[in-house]
Amino acid sequence: MSAADEQRAVDALTQIGATTAVMQLDQIAQQAAAGQWSYTHFLGRLLEPEIEARRQRVVETSLRFAGLPWTKRLSDFDFCFQPSIDRTLIEELATGRYLHEGRNIVFLGPPGVGKTHLAIALGLLCAEMGHRLLFLSALELARRMNTAFAQNRLPHYLKMLTTPRLLIIDEVGYLGLDAQQASMLFQVICCRYEKQGATIITSNKAFADWGHVFAGDAVMASAALDRLLHRATVINIKGDSYRLKEKRQAGLFAGSVALESTKGSHTQKSK
Ligand code: ADP
Ligand code: MG
Repeated sequence: MSAADEQRAVDALTQIGATTAVMQLDQIAQQAAAGQWSYTHFLGRLLEPEIEARRQRVVETSLRFAGLPWTKRLSDFDFCFQPSIDRTLIEELATGRYLHEGRNIVFLGPPGVGKTHLAIALGLLCAEMGHRLLFLSALELARRMNTAFAQNRLPHYLKMLTTPRLLIIDEVGYLGLDAQQASMLFQVICCRYEKQGATIITSNKAFADWGHVFAGDAVMASAALDRLLHRATVINIKGDSYRLKEKRQAGLFAGSVALESTKGSHTQKSK
């Protein structure tokens, strides 16, 4: 490739923003000449790293806005420790089909059984598929909505919550919401439902107790559940806390811990 040809290629690639291709042009052109590659093979080899770099940037941008509290992957999850979880079902969710179908996922169970871990792992996969997501604890969501309400921006904030492909609301029911916060959470669930946006919820409260989650308003709780569960996969985890596993192994607990752990499997999928 003559210097003029190379400059022309660099200028063209720069104009279309193909910065990775510009950086690799010289090296790939030399490999092409040495290997007597066809033009199409050369073009493919030049564009592959460009496409990968762009994909990576999309993932990084998505993760920057996602607010995931930690990095947890499905590969780090010990399914043997938690036999009540249907691994095949989790693997199906990992394909991301639920995102396109606007299906919700609800992880239920006592503390430490991996609800947040699994929600984060699915969130990471969502970002790696090139989608936007937002992770918030129920309390943080309520706090932000209170602020938006006080600033007369609640409709705007609710609209903003409908834009990510996935919204993860963690720890629903851990701390009681007041009537206004409950009503706002209800509005979020309604907005996501109307836009068919997938929502993942983790909760330590059985659905029967969701009246308390919604500040004692059983009618609102039932209306929220109606929307949430219309298209949803419910994963009810029944087992021991993983957090206590190491402590127990280290002998910090003499006998079995008085956890509400019920052995046995109950994983259900609602249509
Ligand atoms: P929950 O949200 O149900 O209270 P977490 O997902 O926060 O529980 O899990 C508590 C800790 O234990 C986290 O660090 C998580 O990564 C880890 N953990 C939970 N279950 C498992 C598991 N089955 N395999 C590996 N790590 C687990
Ligand atoms: Mg949690």
